[in-house]
Amino acid sequence: LSNRTSDFTDSVIRRMTRISNQYNAVNLSQGFPDFDPPKPILDALEKASHQGPHQYSITCGAQNFREALAQKQSRLMGRSINPETEIVVTCGSTEAMMAAMMTVANPGDKVIVFSPFYENYGADTILSGAVPIYVPLHPPAFNFNTDELEAAFKQDPKALILCNPSNPTGKVFNREELMIIADLAKKYDTYVITDEVYEHIVYQPHEHIYLASLPGMFERTISCSSLSKTYSITGWRLGYIIAPETIIDVAKKVHDFLTVGAAAPLQEAATVGLQFGDDYYLDLRKHYTAKRQLFLNGLDDIGLGYSTPQGAYYVMIDVSPYKADDDLAFCTWLAEHVGVGAVPGSTFFREDVNHLIRLHFAKKEATLYEALNRLADLK
Ligand code: GLN
Repeated sequence: LSNRTSDFTDSVIRRMTRISNQYNAVNLSQGFPDFDPPKPILDALEKASHQGPHQYSITCGAQNFREALAQKQSRLMGRSINPETEIVVTCGSTEAMMAAMMTVANPGDKVIVFSPFYENYGADTILSGAVPIYVPLHPPAFNFNTDELEAAFKQDPKALILCNPSNPTGKVFNREELMIIADLAKKYDTYVITDEVYEHIVYQPHEHIYLASLPGMFERTISCSSLSKTYSITGWRLGYIIAPETIIDVAKKVHDFLTVGAAAPLQEAATVGLQFGDDYYLDLRKHYTAKRQLFLNGLDDIGLGYSTPQGAYYVMIDVSPYKADDDLAFCTWLAEHVGVGAVPGSTFFREDVNHLIRLHFAKKEATLYEALNRLADLK
């Protein structure tokens, strides 16, 4: 079997879903909602099931989907995005990130990854033949040290991967931090591959700033995102890349041979979501702000320590009072004996960190209360 697959394990996030299911635990490990997508999207799905399309869409994405996406993102990113030349629709941002890596990196090229990081980036770099250079984000605020970051840029990397808002920490990079990253990327002539799937899940006073919207950055940014979290359709596997034409030309080739295209009827139905007005995104933020409040209040009542997320829907919780030296064993125990599924923090860190677990709160209130009731048994 191939050597390149021996350097990474299966996804621990998705393994924890299997373990949670095995013990009938409330699964707060892999981040996905247990509530329905918006009704207009479901109605459009029903219509598409009768009227199609049921055959391949054009490889880089259905025309109406790309047009609706270009309109929405042009509004948000403050520049006019060309739906013909600057977009590829992918099977989730998982494919978008992998295609972006294969588009820019040759085997042996270095890629900067902040640690902690969403675990796919480790496997993505290995599968594309790239070599990660890890730069720590220092707790509790998960800030980077500019000297440490510049030291990584001095090693001649091809790209930096930026997850903003960040999974698993919930960090939202502010303008000043993004300007530092942008200046370094320009100084060392480096691409930035962004993962912005939580772009609409940001808690006030924090705000999401698209790296590609900063001066001189569209040219070198490969913006990856997804409809999964914004419209609660993680199983539809709809994502995309936005970048300049020269990069998209190559990404289209990679995408074509990886997957041919995202599911045509699902693109048709999801186009309705892309056409929603600004109120939808305000309501989404309110919806998750309330869930965050409920969940953090519950953790406070139990007496668990955590870093407050500024965006996304994850909380990193300190379980060191429970002498949880082996966080994977602790999470397995938690699923079996407490009945709550969590992700061991070590899967996200390059450094030796074993005292954190990640829980998510993208669930109905009743599910969150049930999980909090169970976690209260930890006392
Ligand atoms: N982003 C989600 C998480 O971190 C899961 C994504 C996935 O499993 N593809 O839990």
